[in-house]
Amino acid sequence: MLIGGQWMPSASGKTFEVVNPATEEVIAHVAEGEAEDIDRAVKAARKAFESGAWPAMTPSARGRMISRVGDLILDNLDEFAELESLDNGKPITIARVADVPLAADMFHYMSGWATKMHGQTIPLSVLYTPGASYHSYTRPEPVGVVGQIIPWNFPLLMAAWKLAPALATGCTVVLKVAEETPLSALRLGEVLQEAGIPDGVVNIVTGFGETAGAALASHSGVDKVAFTGSTEVGRLIVKAAAADLKKVSLELGGKSPNIVLDDADLDTAIPGAANAIFFNHGQCCCAGSRLYASDKIFDKVVEGVSEAASKIKVGPGLDPETEMGPMVSKIQHERVSGYLEAGAAEGARAATGGRKKDGAGYFIEPTVLVDTKQDMKVNQEEIFGPVVTAMPFKGMDEELVRRANDTVYGLAAGIWTRDVSKAHTLAAQLRAGTVWVNCYNIFDSALPFGGYKQSGWGREMGEAVLDNYTETKAVTIGL
Ligand code: NAP
Ligand code: MG
Repeated sequence: MLIGGQWMPSASGKTFEVVNPATEEVIAHVAEGEAEDIDRAVKAARKAFESGAWPAMTPSARGRMISRVGDLILDNLDEFAELESLDNGKPITIARVADVPLAADMFHYMSGWATKMHGQTIPLSVLYTPGASYHSYTRPEPVGVVGQIIPWNFPLLMAAWKLAPALATGCTVVLKVAEETPLSALRLGEVLQEAGIPDGVVNIVTGFGETAGAALASHSGVDKVAFTGSTEVGRLIVKAAAADLKKVSLELGGKSPNIVLDDADLDTAIPGAANAIFFNHGQCCCAGSRLYASDKIFDKVVEGVSEAASKIKVGPGLDPETEMGPMVSKIQHERVSGYLEAGAAEGARAATGGRKKDGAGYFIEPTVLVDTKQDMKVNQEEIFGPVVTAMPFKGMDEELVRRANDTVYGLAAGIWTRDVSKAHTLAAQLRAGTVWVNCYNIFDSALPFGGYKQSGWGREMGEAVLDNYTETKAVTIGL
């Protein structure tokens, strides 16, 4: 673990195993951090914050260091891509063009904000004393020591989404990475040091959620907790943070509707709908997991998406031919196959796929389920695997909007149509933080991302993320 600029074992000396999900082989032993390690890391982050080593540095110097982190990620692109593939299982070809460049871009993009955060001057209207005059202004200030907890689906990218804005705003950090995928964040720790980020500004603790994660979320030395993961654990984070009312931001699950209207260009909508669910093996919080297609084109869409699914080359992520790797872990493999069984038991039929693969590795067949009802488990709960449910609808009406919005989630949605009026009308009616029209899974460091309803609190990326890591101070001077 990286604490206060030193690489160290856990206080207990314990380690845990990291497994390659394509082979089920142990590939590393990693320090198992617990409450005592979190406490050390929080103290190191507090010291770095209070001493001013980071927040008091000029914004330009801070920005240049953050930008250097982005450069160094790109310099080591192949190594990072290989680590992601070994640890998470994702295809190395995809890690090279998506995970790693996007992580670098997040540091490059946020580095610019370090010099561009400023307050406002605000004229006052209610002056108690005739003739009184005031000068009021605001100052954005770093919230302080931030505890960040991230999942395993995009290990490096999630670290970048969290670290880059916290660094740009002048915060110091304790990062708890997912137990399933700690390797790329540890390598990133070395990169942060090489870029010159001072000791204690970023501390990286490996360990389990129930111990290290819970200790971080409840630690009284932490000013703010930023979490990405399941809605269930999100609730635990809020409870843990409640004792001293820490600030909390949450990026949680989704069950996103992807709607194909009858006038859509099916040559783009069909591969688009397949990519919406199968990208990253469906292990995306924004996966387009409920496919609604107009009854006029439903059969054609199901046939097209099923054909695309059946052609996906599933295999070990390090094989350059592989298009879809294994589920990240045994537990996730069992969860997803559990949903396939639950769907079948409730009457769903697999148009393609529907089974886990035999042999070593946590593989699942890309699956399209039909004959599902809105209230079935497979339509209400986040499966987080390569499984889409396809349902027909009659027309673009209130009923379609009601069904699209009918889950506890509100993270993302997709619309496929050639009619610009329908696109804008529907985009406004969907209760989701992101709406993609005639595209899906398009991310950019400059675009805010986050959820309505139980999909989260606050936004990642873009200018909006700065709110997650700053307090606004209003200063008024009597003249
Ligand atoms: P998770 O349990 O929510 O894990 C996310 C992070 O929270 C991990 O670092 C985890 O530690 C940590 N954590 C777990 N329990 C905690 C606690 N009590 N206090 C503080 N931190 C805690 O997600 P998961 O088990 O990895 O996956 C389960 C389901 O979550 C998935 O099937 C999927 O539905 C959803 N999920 C959503 C996202 C997303 O991006 N929204 C990402 C991943 C998963 P460990 O490393 O020890 O697990
Ligand atoms: Mg976990």
